[in-house]
Amino acid sequence: MFDAATLPWPRIDALAKAGAIALLPVGSTEAHGPHLPLNVDVVLAQEVCKRSSAKLGVDTVVFPPLTYSLTDFAAPFAGTVSLSAQTAKDLLVGVLRGIARGGFTQLAVVNHHLEPAHFALVHAAAKEANASGAFRVVVPDHRRKPTGPLLGDEFMHGGSHAGWYETALMLAAAPQLVDDAARLALPDNPVDLPAVIKGGATDFHQCGGPLAYFGSPARATAADGERLFEVLVEATVQALQTGFRATP
Ligand SMILES: [Zn+2]
Repeated sequence: MFDAATLPWPRIDALAKAGAIALLPVGSTEAHGPHLPLNVDVVLAQEVCKRSSAKLGVDTVVFPPLTYSLTDFAAPFAGTVSLSAQTAKDLLVGVLRGIARGGFTQLAVVNHHLEPAHFALVHAAAKEANASGAFRVVVPDHRRKPTGPLLGDEFMHGGSHAGWYETALMLAAAPQLVDDAARLALPDNPVDLPAVIKGGATDFHQCGGPLAYFGSPARATAADGERLFEVLVEATVQALQTGFRATP
C-alpha cells in the first residue's frame, strides 16, 4: 500500500503506469455520540483501505480521504458539516476524474458513511465517472447481502450509527480516539434506524437519538471490532476483484 499524499508525483506516475489500484476512502465530518470523534467514518474507511490492501495481492495507492459529504441526520449537532447532495456528488466525481487523469484505470471508493442519501450519491457519482469509459470505478457496498447480515443484528436493524458496530471498529482501529468512560456510561438505545427513517424522521433527534448515538456502544469490544474488520475486508477485496475482472 502506498500513501498518495506522502509521495512525489513521479512515484505516483510510475505506480499508475504499473497498474496499481487507486483507493479513495470516503467518510464524513459528523457527530458520533458523546464517546466517538467526528471522523469515525473517515478512520474506518482508511483502515479498511489499509487492511484490504494487505490482502489484495496487487499494489494500491490510497488517496487522501474525502472528509465532507451530505450528513443531514447529524446536522443539528455541533461539529457536523453537511454538504448538499449535488455539491457532495460533484466533489466526488471531480476527485475521481482527477485521480484517473493521473493514469489510474482502476479506482475504488471505500465508503463508510452510511446515511442512505449519501451512499446513494456515492453510487451515482461512480456511475457518472464511469460513463467516460476511460477508467473503472468500483464501489463496494457492505450493506448488501451477503455482507450486511454478517455485521450483526445491530448493523441490520438498529444502531449502525455510533453503537456497538462503529464503537467496536474504533476500539480496534483507533482506541485512543474512543472516550471509554463516556461510552461505558451510555445506556443502550435500541432504535431501529432504518424503520424510523422510513417512517419519515429526518434527523437524529427525530429518530430518538438526542446524543447522536444508537444501539449499544457500551457492549463493544476491540475483539468484536477485529472480527467486523475481517468481514469488511473480505467483502471489499471480493468486490474489487470481481469489479475489476469485469473491466472491458
Ligand atoms: Zn459513522
